[in-house]
Amino acid sequence: SVDINVLAEEYLKLAYHGLRAKDKNFYAEFKMDFDSDLPKINVVPQDIGRVLLNLINNAFQACSQKDLPSPASYRGVSDDKRNLEGLHPLVIVSTKNLGDKIEISVKDNGPGIPDSIKDKIFQPFFTTKPTGQGTGLGLSLSYDIVKAHGGELKVESREGEGSEFIIKLPI
Ligand code: ADP
Ligand code: MG
Repeated sequence: SVDINVLAEEYLKLAYHGLRAKDKNFYAEFKMDFDSDLPKINVVPQDIGRVLLNLINNAFQACSQKDLPSPASYRGVSDDKRNLEGLHPLVIVSTKNLGDKIEISVKDNGPGIPDSIKDKIFQPFFTTKPTGQGTGLGLSLSYDIVKAHGGELKVESREGEGSEFIIKLPI
């Protein structure tokens, strides 16, 4: 029986600090928007954790690809204004109780996913990342894990605006 809010926070921080440790110039903001009324669900925590890590790593990598100004250059500008203007890389992880399912969303303000590759991203070994940086296995593995839990994994994305990966798991 797993509290997805606890799991999501743990893996969000793991992803963030992992990327910071690898690249000291890595910078992104993250937000959590968790449903406080989320029932615990029966999942394998390491498996769903792996899915969250894949999606969150992709989200951080995607939004930090955008050529955004460094934090120092907009010191004094309020967070809300910066977010509205999409001025800094932002990942939002949220959860929602849908009654018979729970929803977990991982949203970024990165470059988005072109329509021409949307149907390919869940295929094993599909990657647009430079050799050595992506295996192309993250989404395919995540899809299989979510399916094995009786759930679904979908993506919504608009080019230039960002992407949102949505997991639904039965309660
Ligand atoms: P990898 O991260 O190793 O490339 P994945 O299976 O995790 O493999 O992702 C496959 C591809 O899907 C990525 O190379 C990228 O082109 C696209 N993708 C995944 N997540 C995002 C995202 N949040 N924003 C933009 N593109 C994405
Ligand atoms: Mg990946």
